[in-house]
This record gives sequence, C-alpha cells and structure tokens, in this order.
Amino acid sequence: MKPAAFTYHRAHDVADAVALLTDLAAAGEDPKVIAGGQSLMPMMNFRLARPTALVDLGPLRRVPSMTAISERDGTLTLGALVTHHAVETATLSPDWAVLSRTMRWVGHRPIRSRGTVAGSLVHGDATAEWCLLALLLDAVVVAEGPAGRREIPAGELFHGFYATAVDPDEVVVEVRFTRPSPHAALTEFARRHGDFAIVDAAVALDVEGSAVRGGRVVLGGVAPAPVRVPEAEAALAGEAGDDRWAAVADAAVAAIDPPDDGGTTAAYRRRLTRTLVTDACREAAGGIP
Ligand SMILES: Cc1cc2nc3c(=O)[nH]c(=O)nc-3n(C[C@H](O)[C@H](O)[C@H](O)COP(=O)(O)OP(=O)(O)OC[C@H]3O[C@@H](n4cnc5c(N)ncnc54)[C@H](O)[C@@H]3O)c2cc1C
Repeated sequence: MKPAAFTYHRAHDVADAVALLTDLAAAGEDPKVIAGGQSLMPMMNFRLARPTALVDLGPLRRVPSMTAISERDGTLTLGALVTHHAVETATLSPDWAVLSRTMRWVGHRPIRSRGTVAGSLVHGDATAEWCLLALLLDAVVVAEGPAGRREIPAGELFHGFYATAVDPDEVVVEVRFTRPSPHAALTEFARRHGDFAIVDAAVALDVEGSAVRGGRVVLGGVAPAPVRVPEAEAALAGEAGDDRWAAVADAAVAAIDPPDDGGTTAAYRRRLTRTLVTDACREAAGGIP
C-alpha cells in the first residue's frame, strides 16, 4: 500500500521544526516529525498512521549536537539523530558497552543505518531495545516544544501501547543515559533474525567486589509498554550464580501478566521470560571476578 496524501516540510534547525509543527497544527493539519522513517513510513504505508504533514529532521544532521555521542561525568549523551549503527560502531567505555552490544538485535543493517535513538523511543514499541535500555540505564529524554525544553525521565516516558509522554509539538533533541552499568546485558527471542522480539529481557547488576548488591530487570513484550520488574530486582542481591539467576527468573515470571495475542500465548511469553532473564543475568555477570 501507499501512504495517504501528505505535505512535506524540511526543518532547518530545532526551532524551525517546532515552529513548523505548531503552525501546521494551528492551520488544522495533523503534522508529524520524521527522522529515519524506519517506523513511521511502514506505519504510513499500512495506513496505521495518517499524518497530513511531515516535518523532516534530516537537514538537522548538520547540527553537530544532533548526531553527537559523548561521555562525561557518568552520563552518556546521544543526539536525537544518532543512529543505531552509530552506537553499534562507537567506542564506548565499559560503563555503556551494553548499548553497542545490543544494537545487533535491532532490525537489519540498513534499518540500523537510518533508524535513530529518539525515533525508537518516541515510537515506543513495547519490545524496542532502546525502550528497554532507557529504563535499564535511567535515560532522560530532552524535548523542545513551544514552551521551551523539558526533561522526561524514562520512568515517565512510556504511557502504554505506542504511547509516550513526548507531545506532538515537541522535538526530542537528545537522550541522556545516567546510570553507568558495566555489568549489563539484553537478550531476546524473535521468530526470524531482524524481527522485533516477542519477548526481550535486560538486566543490569550492581556489583561490589564479587557480590551483587542489586540492579535492574526490564522486560519487553509482556505488557503494552516495557516494564521494570521490582519483584525480580529484589531477588538480585546476593552471591552470583545459577541458583540466584533462577530465583530472579522465577520472580519475574510470577510478577508478569503477559498478553495472549497474535498466536503467541501468555504461557509461551512466560517461558521465554524465564529463559531470557536467566540468560541476561548470566551474560551480565560475565565479568564479575
Ligand atoms: C523490518 C524492520 C525491522 C525492525 N526491527 C526493529 C527491532 O528489532 N527493534 C527495534 O527497536 N526497532 C526495529 N525497527 C524500527 C527501527 O528501529 C526504527 O528505526 C525506529 O523504531 C524508529 O526510528 P526512526 O528514526 O526511523 O523514526 P521514524 O520512523 O522517523 O519516527 C518514528 C516515530 O518517532 C517520532 N520521532 C522521530 N524522531 C523524533 C524526534 N527527534 N522528536 C520527536 N519525535 C520523533 C516520529 O514522529 C514517529 O512518531 C525495525 C524496522 C523495520 C522496518
């Protein structure tokens, strides 16, 4: 299928993009920002999205901060137009290496070369790797709108099925990750290589010496949006090892109420959760002395 008719507008900078969104909406249009187009265009082709105007952020790639990757004082900052591939190939410190390792799970190379971090977070798919990573590593989304800039913590970003806290007249300018995690991993199961995951699991372990003091467990594909699982996180502390990871996985499975849909039963999602949480814990613990 082809998309419904729309007008096309190129934004020259962030202020221009916000002004275009505001003016088009005031004129009765239903405008949308387009970045890599790797989610929005398929949605438009299937007529699941019907914006009447597109505001293209492509020219903003010339703005250095929009494609910058920088680490400073325990924070990793990614410009909104940083692509999945740029992160995959970046030389990040061990604190953030989980981001580069995870990118191999995102679609295929052409998708990773075009798709952006901010686009993924605003799209808000419940299994999107960036959405899980945002919760895992305490991301803060910085969005600019007509009233100026505001910061949205990852914990307040996801409002449900493909719904996020970013308003239609806002442009995300950068994403900051504020929780360095050298012992972290994301694992997932998809039917075919490059597909979205059916379930994915991300784990970050807080390690002191050789002991695990706590950490994060985040799941995708078990609820309308990605979720942290406090019950599983409570089971993380103690001596690292397979018994502990089994207890964490048990706690995760007991805490979730996954959907039965699209030929994937809730029972199957639970089984995947058990396996993936265990695997993510093992991988995250790999470097513990
Ligand atoms: C075959 C295929 C397989 C895929 N597999 C995966 C996968 O396994 N995992 C995964 O996570 N993704 C997958 N994707 C999606 C891909 O990662 C997209 O790149 C990503 O979801 C959206 O990024 P984008 O830059 O392309 O955003 P776009 O498609 O341009 O936009 C997506 C949404 O974000 C909004 N938006 C974009 N940028 C901004 C901004 N700066 N400020 C405000 N709003 C913004 C748009 O208005 C739109 O609502 C797949 C896509 C395809 C086609």
